[in-house]
Amino acid sequence: MKGFTTQIVHNDRLAGIEHGSVHKPIHTSVAFGYEDTRELAAVFQGKKPGFTYGRQINPTVEALENKISVMENGLRTVCFGTGMAAIGTAFFALLRHGDHVVSSAFLFGNTNSLFNSFAVQGVDVSFVDATSVEAVAAAVTPKTRLVFVETIANPRTQVTALKEIGEYCAQHGLIYVVDNTMTSPYLFQPAKVQASLVVNSLTKYIGGHGNALGGAITEMGHFDWGSYAHIYEDYRSGNPQMWGITQIKKKGLRDFGASLAAEAAHHISVGAETLALRMERQCTNAQTLAEYLYAHDQVREVFYPGLPHHPQYQRSTELFKHAGAILSFELAPSVDLWDFMDRLQVIIRSTNLGDNRTLAIPVAHTIYYEMGPERRASMGIEDSLIRVSVGIEDCGDLIDDINQAFG
Ligand SMILES: *Cc1c(COP(=O)(O)O)cnc(C)c1O
Repeated sequence: MKGFTTQIVHNDRLAGIEHGSVHKPIHTSVAFGYEDTRELAAVFQGKKPGFTYGRQINPTVEALENKISVMENGLRTVCFGTGMAAIGTAFFALLRHGDHVVSSAFLFGNTNSLFNSFAVQGVDVSFVDATSVEAVAAAVTPKTRLVFVETIANPRTQVTALKEIGEYCAQHGLIYVVDNTMTSPYLFQPAKVQASLVVNSLTKYIGGHGNALGGAITEMGHFDWGSYAHIYEDYRSGNPQMWGITQIKKKGLRDFGASLAAEAAHHISVGAETLALRMERQCTNAQTLAEYLYAHDQVREVFYPGLPHHPQYQRSTELFKHAGAILSFELAPSVDLWDFMDRLQVIIRSTNLGDNRTLAIPVAHTIYYEMGPERRASMGIEDSLIRVSVGIEDCGDLIDDINQAFG
């Protein structure tokens, strides 16, 4: 099998594109034509491959879906307008009133907010410390259908017990959803830990340039959908490995309509070609910055899985190619957070992550503000905690910038 980047760069072309294009073109047509009425009916009945309507399928989006399946070593991918649309739609399609979900407590802020909305709608959620499989197991009830985790958590960089939870879910017939956004399929493939479904926010590392929103769910083929009670009769045909992703596409994407636009899919596809190159540079920069900050006397603590004192350093080393490009740190009490942030000149004061540019944000006052002080305290988020999404700049310029910002 060809290498990771070779496969991404050649995937479109090998599928055979009109005019021998090497990029899949941007298809903007919402509707599609057919040879005759019988073909139209066959495509709509799923008896013949083809395109029905732009909300459910688009050739440019489909080319990106195929590329993500290759990157994740999965069976099939469905793309969405954002990462949140991917998570929300999958939950909507697979869960019903009365079901229970066990989720990592160390969670992307909007995912946390989304799960609280599901709780109001009757899908109960328990938040646990997913760095321990015992904590997950202790929260499982007879109504639990699904376990949701992130690979490296935002913003404190806890590394989930990915392998152990995968084994537990396999033994207990639970859907195991792994959000791979923080690592991307270049650093880690959740296929290796028996994930059922993999989530990627394409907005982040896969797209990589902060110029397009997108999300994806990939079916890995490990879960026995044949024994899952919530699959509708209509989707219980053909290979049972595909029933879950089919239902996500039909009851989720088609009915909810959170579709990815072809233009965005094109941006993301082009961005994905350099995922490995960008990640290598970003992770090297992050490791260097983390070590620099850790040695700095005006920094109280640094959270980065590539530092040996990180509680899951060993696990991160075993699971991931590198320790990622997100780090966070607490300033020493003598440093004023607002002054420090205001003095940054190269590093941009902004949210988002996975951009080529280095971005820094004081999380307690922004993306985790709505959560309230109690939940923040339970997640270990101090007021002086700054999250840094490390970019591809020349590392010396990042260090100089931080150095001058300390004043
Ligand atoms: C950003 C992010 C999401 C949501 O993605 P959007 O494309 O912004 O909707 C989900 N999970 C993680 C871990 C993220 O970082």
